[in-house]
Amino acid sequence: MKGSVIESERTSAVRLSTAELQRYSRHLIMPEVTAEGQKRLKAARVLCIGAGGLGSPAALYLTAAGVGRLGIVDFDKVDLTNLQRQILHGTKDVGRSKLESARDRLLDINPEIEIKLHECRFSSESAGQIVADYDVVVDGSDNFATRYLSNDICVFARKPNVYGSVFRFEGQTTVFASHLGGPCYRCIFPEPPPPESVPNCAQAGVLGVLPGIIGMLQTIETIKLIVGIGDPLIGRLLHFDALKVKFRELKLRRDTQCPVCGENPTIFAPIDYDQFCGVREDRSVPAISVQELKRKMDAREAFELIDVREPFEFEIARIDGATLIPLGEIAEHADELEREQPIVVHCHSGMRSAQAVRLLQQRGFTNVYNLEGGIDAWSDAIDPSVPKY
Ligand SMILES: [Zn+2]
Repeated sequence: MKGSVIESERTSAVRLSTAELQRYSRHLIMPEVTAEGQKRLKAARVLCIGAGGLGSPAALYLTAAGVGRLGIVDFDKVDLTNLQRQILHGTKDVGRSKLESARDRLLDINPEIEIKLHECRFSSESAGQIVADYDVVVDGSDNFATRYLSNDICVFARKPNVYGSVFRFEGQTTVFASHLGGPCYRCIFPEPPPPESVPNCAQAGVLGVLPGIIGMLQTIETIKLIVGIGDPLIGRLLHFDALKVKFRELKLRRDTQCPVCGENPTIFAPIDYDQFCGVREDRSVPAISVQELKRKMDAREAFELIDVREPFEFEIARIDGATLIPLGEIAEHADELEREQPIVVHCHSGMRSAQAVRLLQQRGFTNVYNLEGGIDAWSDAIDPSVPKY
């Protein structure tokens, strides 16, 4: 890490009281942190989006670590089903506002810090103003619309967006910071999956401790960015599989064509994210279902299966027999494809592959089909051993 995200002039006026010196003594005695690092933490302002599964451990440890201001944005009430993983809240808090419950718990841990509550939906209208007051954003949201919004706002405001997501027994985290040379969320996920293909915690379940691990990793990254130590998780995605107890690190590349952080951006202000994430795959291209693909495979029919996702997605999950050609490389590899036999194209959920089908049609391919619902649908309906992500 080249330096802290907190400018040095902000820490020069910060003092640590005797009580604070005692409270943070285990930080201060480390030569990598010292009082200087602790002052940076005290000067820092961190926003947690959500006081749920990821936001709970993040808020608890950021508070204990002594960040000067912790903002939390949420509008939900504590529900009994939350308590299995949202450890900010207790049984006595069921029915209360999550933010009020969070504030009580956090101030009990550390009354030295400022807790700022934003009791509203993190929306295109409110996000810019909220984020303006913070140095780092910890994205603890559980839906794609908020993730794209959080990403875009952080790109516009040139602030690091510490990403985390969990699904059943697996989770992943990275730091999106295009202003520090890394990719943004849109570079990696240019399109949202179709809404019906994305189960949330309520539909799919999640091992309660899993968001604990991912949320704490997000917190470690946040603290490192503030103190200015170590190698940040910029350009690297850390994937954790609890059942296998395996961490895998995947390299992420910046997309120079990215509509928000690329060389010729086309998005300069928040968009309508609900509409964006409600976009369905292009139904006007020739398509086959996952059942039909399975039948073709079982019947040993001659056809080619092309996967147009990115290499890191191919590493996470793949359909046997598929050839990887990322969407951005389809045009240059089109001449190598067999024109005599049918081509089935798939991606994560069917949208990128629909684009690839169009592209191949424009190059004269007539026997090319989109796999409806992508590898997600394959995993749901045909082969559950293929991991979902
Ligand atoms: Zn980008």
